[in-house]
Amino acid sequence: MKLVPGSIKGRLLFWLFSFASLLLISLGFFLDNEIGDIVISSVDDLLHSQTQLIVGLLHEEHGGIELELSEIIAGEYSIPRSGHYYKVLINGEPAAISPSLVNSEFNLATGEIVSSNEKSREKIYLSVGPDNEPVRVLQHDLDFMGQQVSIFTAESLRGSHNMINRFRYVLLIMIPLSILTGGLVSLWITSKSLDPLSIFSSKIEMITHKTLNERIDTEAEAGELIGIASSFNKMLERLQSAFDAEKRLIADASHELKTPLSVIKTKCDVLLQKDRTTEEYTEALNAIRNTSGTMKKIVDDMLSLARLDSGILSSGGFQKISIKSVLENAVQLMEVPADRTGVKINPLFRDEKDTDITGDQNTLTEAFLNVIENAVRYNKSGGTADISVSNDRGHVTVMIKDTGTGIRKDDMSRIFDRFYRSEDSRSVEGSGLGLSIAKTVIEAHGGSIRAESDADKGSCFTIVLPC
Ligand code: ADP
Repeated sequence: MKLVPGSIKGRLLFWLFSFASLLLISLGFFLDNEIGDIVISSVDDLLHSQTQLIVGLLHEEHGGIELELSEIIAGEYSIPRSGHYYKVLINGEPAAISPSLVNSEFNLATGEIVSSNEKSREKIYLSVGPDNEPVRVLQHDLDFMGQQVSIFTAESLRGSHNMINRFRYVLLIMIPLSILTGGLVSLWITSKSLDPLSIFSSKIEMITHKTLNERIDTEAEAGELIGIASSFNKMLERLQSAFDAEKRLIADASHELKTPLSVIKTKCDVLLQKDRTTEEYTEALNAIRNTSGTMKKIVDDMLSLARLDSGILSSGGFQKISIKSVLENAVQLMEVPADRTGVKINPLFRDEKDTDITGDQNTLTEAFLNVIENAVRYNKSGGTADISVSNDRGHVTVMIKDTGTGIRKDDMSRIFDRFYRSEDSRSVEGSGLGLSIAKTVIEAHGGSIRAESDADKGSCFTIVLPC
C-alpha cells in the first residue's frame, strides 16, 4: 500500500496535513511541559519566600532562640489540612509547627528528594500530605547562634495539578480541532491552487485530430503551467506536421497510383471493344505488366518507408558490417539492369581499404541500391557509374558518380522529397521514393547524404557514415 497518494492534490494535502499535525502535536507537548515547569517553579518560589519569612522571624532572646510566628500563623496556615504547612526544628527538636498540621501524622521530611543544593543547604521533597494530596516540601538548614535550625515549608500541589490538568484538557480538545480545521483549510487551498491545472486539462481535452492547428494561449496560463503549455504547443506542432506529412503521403500515393491504374483500365477497355489479334493482346498485356510493375515498385517503396517511419531501425539492433560487403551486394543486384542499358558500373571500392561500420545490412543495401540504380537509370548507353570509398577521421565516405542526365538546379532541393520526380525523369520508370528511403536509412545510421550535379554532365551522390 502506498503511504503517499499518487495525485498532486493528494500529495499536497498529505504533506500539508502531516506537517501541520506534526507542528501542532509538537507545540502541544512543548506547552504541556512548559506549563508544568512554570507552575512548579511558582510553587518553589512561594516555598522560598515563606522560608525566608520564617528565617527573618528567628531572633535571640534570653540567650536562646525565639521564634515570633504570630505574623504567619494567621490565614491558611491556621486552617487544618489547608495544604499550606511549616515546621521548624532546633537541634532536631520541634520548635514550631503550623496549626494546619495539628492532629496530623504528616512528617514533612519524608518522600522522594527531587532536588538538593549543598551550598544553600536546601532540599526539595515530593511527598504525600495529610489529606493524601501531593505535596512539595522545601527543607532549609541553617546555623543560628551556634544551633542547628531546620525550616520545612510545604505547599499542596493539588491546585497546581488541577490547573495543569485543565490546561491539558484544553490542549486535547484544541489540537485535534486545529488539525481538523488545518485539514479542511489544506483541502480548500490545494483545490484552489490546482484549479488552473483542471482548466488546462479541459483545454487539452478539447484538442482532437481535427483541431490540431489550435494552440494553448500560454499568456493566459498560471506561471508554473507556461512551460508545460509551450511544450504542449511544440508537441502539437510536431504532431500536426507528422499528421500533415501522413496526409500528403496518402494524397501523393493515390495520385501516383491513379495514373498507372487508369492506364491499365484504358488498355483493358480498348481490348474489350472488339476482337483483337494475338499480337495486339500480347502488346497490351506487356504494357499492363509494365504498368503493374511500376505500381508494385510504388507500393513496395511505400511499405519500406512506412516500416522505416515506424522506427524499425534502432541502434540496439545494429551490427558490425563491412562497407565493402554492403556495396558489393548492391552492385551485384544492379549488374544485369546496368548491362541491359549499356551503363558500366565501376566498383572502384574493390581496390580500396575496407572499413567496418555499425548498422543494418539489409536497409543499408537498399539505400545504396536506390542511389546506384538512379546512377544507372538516369544515365545514357555507354555511360559510367563510379563507386568509391574513402575513410577519414571516424567517417567513411561513399561517392557514387555518374555520367548521366544530371539534375537541374531547381530540382536539387526537392529530389529527397517523397514522391518528387523531376519533369525530365518522367520517361524513366520510378516511384519518386528511392532517395527518400536512402536519406531516411542513412540518417537513422547517424550519417548524411548530399547530391551535386552538373546538368548534362552527370551527378555525384556523397554518403557519409560514422565508423
Ligand atoms: P525515382 O528515381 O523513383 O523517380 P528517387 O527518389 O530515387 O525516385 O529520385 C527522385 C528524383 O531525383 C528522380 O525522379 C530524378 O529526377 C532525380 N534523380 C535522382 N538521382 C538521379 C541521378 N543520378 N541523375 C539524375 N537525376 C536523378
